[in-house]
Amino acid sequence: MLPQEIIRAKRDGKALSKQQIDFFVRGITSGTVTEGQIAAFAMAVFFNGMNMDERVALTQAMQHSGSVLQWDDLKLPGPVVDKHSTGGVGDMVSLMLGPMVAACGGYVPMISGRGLGHTGGTLDKFESIPGYNCAPTLSTLRRVVKDVGVAIIGQTGDLAPADKRFYATRDVTATVESIPLITASILAKKLAAGLQALSMDVKCGNGAFMADLAQATELAESIVTVANEAGVRTSALITDMNQVLGSTAGNAVEMLEAVDYLTGKHRNERLHEVTMGLCAQMLMLSGLADNEQSAQQALNNALDSGAAAEKFAEMVAGLGGPTDFIEQPTKYLPKAPVVVPVFAREAGVVSTMQTRDVGLVVVSLGGGRTRAEDRIDHSVGLSALVKLGDTVDAGRPLAMIHARTEAEAEEAKELLLNSVTVSTQTGPSNPVIYRCIEAT
Ligand code: URA
Repeated sequence: MLPQEIIRAKRDGKALSKQQIDFFVRGITSGTVTEGQIAAFAMAVFFNGMNMDERVALTQAMQHSGSVLQWDDLKLPGPVVDKHSTGGVGDMVSLMLGPMVAACGGYVPMISGRGLGHTGGTLDKFESIPGYNCAPTLSTLRRVVKDVGVAIIGQTGDLAPADKRFYATRDVTATVESIPLITASILAKKLAAGLQALSMDVKCGNGAFMADLAQATELAESIVTVANEAGVRTSALITDMNQVLGSTAGNAVEMLEAVDYLTGKHRNERLHEVTMGLCAQMLMLSGLADNEQSAQQALNNALDSGAAAEKFAEMVAGLGGPTDFIEQPTKYLPKAPVVVPVFAREAGVVSTMQTRDVGLVVVSLGGGRTRAEDRIDHSVGLSALVKLGDTVDAGRPLAMIHARTEAEAEEAKELLLNSVTVSTQTGPSNPVIYRCIEAT
């Protein structure tokens, strides 16, 4: 077999066999397939697509390109289950969801990523906790998952290495936006974690990868079909990203919002709906709940009894963070030296939000990256963010800005004012959860 013959077949619109796909992915991992060949292959798929069998083969080939975590030998008394989001702004769902599902009997080994561009990354949020080890050894990961039920850590180089090389080439050749390639890329990494069930959050709107409902539905259906065919029970919720999900955007500020959510101090309604919806899917997919109602009941018990907060505290301590973090988060989280309100130019109702631009305000403050190698400041960001339909005036700001300097705060103020429209009428109101694509 020759890589160029495989590229030629895809260029001419033919379906590839599992053998051809396995061969090509082996070449990506070993380096025998060149950068140019990866780019040409990606562009051929971008234009000619892949059928479901090809997508399953590509996912599984990349999943098995490195190690695949095994949990059987630990004889865990519950299912191994996780969730993945296509990425948004002010979306700290994972921080609460992992401990909530663990408190309901699930085991959640969550391999998370860093933020890039306007979206935040779970890993960056955890790195705002002093001492928290996002890159533990495999035996520490297994111990924390077994003892606590949840461990949220960073990508290890050994999981789905073919995707790492493939994605880097797609990123610089305008071939990221291909549904078959996105499906395989996301699922290869998630399936390498050895899951039994997966709940997907496909974001839709002006702050999401998929701006409209039709595209988001196509991606969600592709992921659900391929994951189920690959043997992992998976469903997807399509959720709104036409505004920031929670009340904060940044790293330490989102961590504090997550702690406040778990301890019951403050629960943003939209964030709560998405978190409960995704957790409920995880419980139902993995057999921990029979229906939505019993899932919601178990989750409410986990929150009300403090069991979910306890799981969070145990995970933080188990991975090297402070043992009293949940009791005193502000003692440990980095604080920005300048915290100032941003008031709208005129009083009125918040009618639209350019969510991507709000994410870029955080980047401008130093809290996000434009290049993968950039260092970030965990202390900066936005808190007390308004939601669509809120009334703002001289007493109620759009948000609080957390900045390193007065000058950066001023710059961020201007950017935020340009990202939010305040008018006399409320804009269109979107549901938080648009649709559920059930497991097949
Ligand atoms: N996220 C991924 O991990 N892969 C893609 O291809 C796109 C988004």
